[in-house]
Amino acid sequence: MRRKKLDFKHKVAAFYTSEYDAVFVENLHVKGMLEGERNGRNTAEVGWRDFIMVLKHHGRKRGCHVVDVDPEDTTKACHKCGVKTKKPLWVREHSCPSCGFETDRDYNAALNVWERGLDKLGVVHSEGTPAETATAVDADEFREVSASRVVDTGSPCLKERAAIAASE
Ligand SMILES: [Zn+2]
Repeated sequence: MRRKKLDFKHKVAAFYTSEYDAVFVENLHVKGMLEGERNGRNTAEVGWRDFIMVLKHHGRKRGCHVVDVDPEDTTKACHKCGVKTKKPLWVREHSCPSCGFETDRDYNAALNVWERGLDKLGVVHSEGTPAETATAVDADEFREVSASRVVDTGSPCLKERAAIAASE
């Protein structure tokens, strides 16, 4: 079982690091400690940290930047105006009382992670949006880690490829 889990992480990590030039992940360890989340979360966090290590390993091999960012307020902060709104877990939508920006809760958070990742890399903001966002909840493996997400942004040529794929 343990072996199988490891294979899955390597498979996912290999995919992301070969498909994208940069992968941004939240460093969830900090978040969990700050929020004092329920039991079982620890196990999930170990799994997540493990996955980040695997990602970094593959990133080094393939020349992909793997950046872990501060997860604080990525969910609360509005990506458009920065105003923080408290959101219980069951609220799946982000609807900003200040600027009116409305989107999916996880997508708003993913945009924040993406922005922080770019800042950390020292990349000047472009008008683009993440090539793809994937929440860890999408994968069975990380179901428990509801707050974690991966954001990746591609180079122009990767975006072109994504556009081609979308038009097919
Ligand atoms: Zn706003």
